[in-house]
Amino acid sequence: MATIEIVIRLMKTDLQSVMVMLFWLGLTFTLLLVSYLSKQGSERHQAIFKTLSLSRGMQTAAWLVLILSDTEPHWICFLASGILLFGGLYFETRTLLCLVSKPSKKKRSFLDGCAAAALILLIFSFVRIGAITDHFFMLGVFFCLIVLLPGPVLMLRRGGSPLKIIIGASYTLLFLFCVYGVIQLNIPQMPEFLPPPLIGDLIRILFVEISFIGGLGIVLIAKEDSDAHIQELAFRDPLTGLHNRRFFMEEARTVLSDCARDKAEASLIFIDIDHFKKINDEHGHHFGDTVLRDFSAVLKLIYRPLDLSCRYGGEEFLLLLPRADSGEALNAALRLLDYCRSSRFPSKPGFSYTVSAGIASGVPRSNSVDELQELIEKADKALYRAKAAGRDRAEIFGESERG
Ligand code: GH3
Ligand code: MG
Ligand code: MG
Repeated sequence: MATIEIVIRLMKTDLQSVMVMLFWLGLTFTLLLVSYLSKQGSERHQAIFKTLSLSRGMQTAAWLVLILSDTEPHWICFLASGILLFGGLYFETRTLLCLVSKPSKKKRSFLDGCAAAALILLIFSFVRIGAITDHFFMLGVFFCLIVLLPGPVLMLRRGGSPLKIIIGASYTLLFLFCVYGVIQLNIPQMPEFLPPPLIGDLIRILFVEISFIGGLGIVLIAKEDSDAHIQELAFRDPLTGLHNRRFFMEEARTVLSDCARDKAEASLIFIDIDHFKKINDEHGHHFGDTVLRDFSAVLKLIYRPLDLSCRYGGEEFLLLLPRADSGEALNAALRLLDYCRSSRFPSKPGFSYTVSAGIASGVPRSNSVDELQELIEKADKALYRAKAAGRDRAEIFGESERG
């Protein structure tokens, strides 16, 4: 069988059966979403799934109106199904937009306004002559396309997951083919790139595809989104917002092996807040927490884009500086000490705190799993020396510890 014949056979669809299928798919999916909504989901996902079930409900109603009307539907049925279908698709693509770019309320309201204007234009042109062969109607379709496209097109952005690209491409193709079909109907003298029956088949297949993809795909993206959120929670310290020890230990090994490959030096600063127990005892645990948060803000002030930091435990923190020797690390540590010393708290105007730091540097050897642990131990020993020498100072690991 010739390839073209195979393609034609695979594309051959019949309008009535496709609409019946789309109706049942839409109905099942709406029911599934509504029953999920009654029990599950974060607040943000609840809002997304609510809009999605509304959009699916509207599309299902549109197919039902078309199925129940005659072979030549009355123009009111045609108009009603058009409004329901456009409204449903609009809410669906707006859900996609919210999932990929989290637009502000102002932007969403602007898009809603544009969608309403596009719909009014479409209704006006249709009511005027009761058919879809009209230049005003074509203009309305163009406007509709403009408001439907932002979500799917943003899904195609570079760096998106394959799931997002497949979803974005399916919606974009469907809308482009719809517009192409309308142009073909309205401008008969236009050269035909594809025969009209084939366009009809393509549009029907894409509708079936997005009824799967727009349903299951959006649920999967929401899951991708919440997985990323859970992962972020698992790797962050809730009090300071800094990364936690688990994240640091995983990432730091990669940073060190990069330095080992390039034979570049890396430095680790081990920081401990001085007399923190006393701060807690004298000012209360709650104020102690405020000091920890203040320190995390100060740490961010000396942070370079490639540096890695974490709350190692209690009032102890680590800062890894790739491609920095002990001199550069000492500079960073001294700046940090300075910032901490000059930190002030509105609730306790006379209060200030200090920190001590231990620094260890070296060119990591490749494939050494214990390299990081060794660096931490060295920096800890230098920190011990800083504490013993009176605190509020930074020490570099050197000969005295080795002996
Ligand atoms: P040094 O200068 O030698 O480091 O003395 P220190 O008092 O800072 O050290 P020590 O290890 O004796 O005390 C650390 C204190 O940190 C004890 C613990 O109750 C307190 N701590 C640990 N985690 C938290 C926290 O999340 N919040 C608060 N407020 N305190 C914490
Ligand atoms: Mg400590
Ligand atoms: Mg301490």
